[in-house]
Amino acid sequence: SATMAKSKYEYVKTFESDDKILPNSWIVVRLDGKNFTKFCETHSLEKPNDSRALDLMNKCATVVMEEFREISLAFGQSDEYSFIFRRDTAIYNRRAAKILTNVNSLFASSFVYFWKDYFANVRLMYPPTFDGRVVIYPTDANLRDYLSWRQADVHVNNLYNTAFWMLVLRGGLTNVQAQERLRGSVAAQKNEILFSEFNINYNNEPIMYRKGTTLLRKVVNAPAAKPRHVILPFHTDLFNDKFWNEHSEILGL
Ligand code: ATP
Ligand code: ATP
Ligand code: MG
Ligand code: MG
Ligand code: MG
Ligand code: MG
Repeated sequence: SATMAKSKYEYVKTFESDDKILPNSWIVVRLDGKNFTKFCETHSLEKPNDSRALDLMNKCATVVMEEFREISLAFGQSDEYSFIFRRDTAIYNRRAAKILTNVNSLFASSFVYFWKDYFANVRLMYPPTFDGRVVIYPTDANLRDYLSWRQADVHVNNLYNTAFWMLVLRGGLTNVQAQERLRGSVAAQKNEILFSEFNINYNNEPIMYRKGTTLLRKVVNAPAAKPRHVILPFHTDLFNDKFWNEHSEILGL
């Protein structure tokens, strides 16, 4: 504490490295579940999409956004979540490890804390782990491309997984056979398999599965009450101007 005299050991503090993030740049924190392929098997999650797990991930991200008010947008899909901090944030003096470890540990502890609310009858078999990274994007275009990239990933993976699991669960193929069947196929061919063999129009699959979840901070005005900040989910395209114009506060347009 401040009242204590400096000890002769104090110099070891100087070995700590400076990880202050470049000013005036977008700070993205992305978390991803460690070996969730196994985690999903162990807890018998539904394939290809277990909505309970996605809802829990969204809950954890909401907790993180409530705690860290300088996150203006979060985007989640599968076992991952990305958090976008305002480009002018001064949080933790922009120290990367402080930001990353606080976000990551709050997300992970929330996942355990709220598990029972989403998986009432499923026992959590072991403590889950999330990896995390900080990525800095200097321009608005870079940030938008980052989010488009993550959302394109949802599309590619979910179309593949939907076709794969239909072939296995309803088509009676083994995992290897389903893999063989889909090897080298383009999107149109996967759509066609789903439509002609399983009567599924991919575009009618739940929008959260196809687009991921975007969480935004919005101000709600109610009569005779103070304006209130709420965190709202959207399942919408991020790659076009429409989204960024409708939510112009994010880029500060
Ligand atoms: P920061 O987020 O900056 O770390 P902090 O409140 O955690 O804030 P620390 O310097 O880490 O500040 O101090 C830890 C605090 O937790 C102290 O107030 C300490 O007394 C209390 N604390 C930690 N472990 C125990 C314990 N086992 N029993 C009682 N108090 C504890
Ligand atoms: P790593 O540690 O490298 O991230 P991983 O097994 O977690 O390994 P990912 O690429 O992150 O690999 O893939 C996430 C895995 O979790 C996939 O197998 C995906 O199908 C599964 N998964 C994630 N969320 C859900 C969900 N809501 N429902 C069903 N399966 C899910
Ligand atoms: Mg991975
Ligand atoms: Mg993972
Ligand atoms: Mg992942
Ligand atoms: Mg402490």
